[in-house]
Amino acid sequence: FSRPNHRPIAAALQQSQNDDFVLEDVPHLTNFLPNLPSYPNPLHSSQAYSIVKNTFVSQEDVVAQNIVIRKDNPRGVHFRRAGPREKVYFKPEEVRACIVTCGGLCPGINTVIREIVCGLNNMYGVEDILGIEEGYRGFYSKNTVRLTPKVVNDIHKRGGTLLRTSRGGHDTQKIVDNIADRGINQVYIIGGDGTQRGAARIYEEVEKRGLHVAVAGIPKTIDNDIAVIDKSFGFDTAVEEAQRAINAAHVEVESVENGVGIVKLMGRYSGFIAMFATLASRDVDCCLIPESPFYLEGRGGLYEFLDQRLKENGHLVIVIAEGAGQEYVAAEVPAVNQKDASGNKLLLDVGPWLSDKIKDHFTKAQKMPINMKYIDPTYMIRAIPSNAADNIYCTLLAHSVVHGAMAGYTGFTVGPVNSRHAYIPISRVTEKQKTVELTGRMWARLLASTNQPSFISSDLEGVVQGIDSLNITSI
Ligand code: ATP
Ligand code: MG
Repeated sequence: FSRPNHRPIAAALQQSQNDDFVLEDVPHLTNFLPNLPSYPNPLHSSQAYSIVKNTFVSQEDVVAQNIVIRKDNPRGVHFRRAGPREKVYFKPEEVRACIVTCGGLCPGINTVIREIVCGLNNMYGVEDILGIEEGYRGFYSKNTVRLTPKVVNDIHKRGGTLLRTSRGGHDTQKIVDNIADRGINQVYIIGGDGTQRGAARIYEEVEKRGLHVAVAGIPKTIDNDIAVIDKSFGFDTAVEEAQRAINAAHVEVESVENGVGIVKLMGRYSGFIAMFATLASRDVDCCLIPESPFYLEGRGGLYEFLDQRLKENGHLVIVIAEGAGQEYVAAEVPAVNQKDASGNKLLLDVGPWLSDKIKDHFTKAQKMPINMKYIDPTYMIRAIPSNAADNIYCTLLAHSVVHGAMAGYTGFTVGPVNSRHAYIPISRVTEKQKTVELTGRMWARLLASTNQPSFISSDLEGVVQGIDSLNITSI
């Protein structure tokens, strides 16, 4: 409780760059529009909010990225705390907001859309809210739709995105021309890493042109691979649904002789869904993720472990994240090197590859017939509506982003850091991906729970350390 170096945050903020206290601040409209007038926040007179003990978040409130501080360690990186500010930089009746969704589907997008609309309307009295359809290219190739609390009333009960989505088609100049032509002054952008990179370009162009426009990103990734924030929306829902697929595989393999179930889950570069679903279900014998290189043959390899498990239990279940073992598939499948419309490399399908390998191993090498059940629930998981926890989380995210834009912040994203919502510079969530730390406690818990091999032979230890040194966040 005692902080030997404690001094008021305001003073610390001023000295932040020369000290062990670092504030990673987000831009504010007044940085490039210094004479912008401000107005009292309408929440002053809100029936609901005026009774809150501290309705407004102080400009000096910050959220620490590291909450476990050891003696003599630097206090480290901090972000501005999210929430309503006493002054706003938009007159509610002059706000024309727009919302766009880009990239792949994820449970909860509709809840975020709903709560941005309802948050703007209920808390700030904003009525002019437009939906941009089909992603970035919708700015210049589609008409907008009017979003009201009535239009979005029950969309949180549906999966997908009311506004539809797309990849590719990001033309910064055309998008910003369109924002200016339509008189839009708040832009809410929901999407993954690519989308947030696009949002950063839009913010830079808006600033260059000196437009009175707040650009705000809401990071979306079902893989939970966004750096800095505790967890991405839709992740809890995805883990819950993934668990159902694992359960189905378990029921199937338990009911036959030598049943082998393989469940392929999402996780291009980060195995969080596979790891959490495995930990939650306890029915998994082996979980393979992109961060942890594995091998099939020899001592400590996958085959040896599977042989033993099948002998012991008469059935087994393997979970594999889509990005795992890509190097093996690439070596056996002719190189295609395909990319999607946004330029992302398309992954090779590791699920059928692993199924074939394991089938061959048991039937040909071990001369033991097996009953293989392969389940790929990817699209089922992506398409469901968010669960209760994610609905509440999406609501907080949406309200935080609305408060931030109304308060004049721009070029920012939002998310919980150590469970407190914070405003985070866009670059911080796009520069690195969060991955499972193989030397972290959560992966150790998984290894202890499944008892699977760690696949770390002495010649791989350097690789693992190399991978971990790239991480900036771990669970
Ligand atoms: P996810 O990967 O979770 O499905 P994403 O947002 O990463 O979501 P992408 O298809 O990569 O999905 O990108 C979405 C949109 O962002 C596309 O319209 C794409 O053109 C645009 N975009 C991607 N990368 C950039 C970039 N570096 N600069 C500008 N725009 C980009
Ligand atoms: Mg992406």
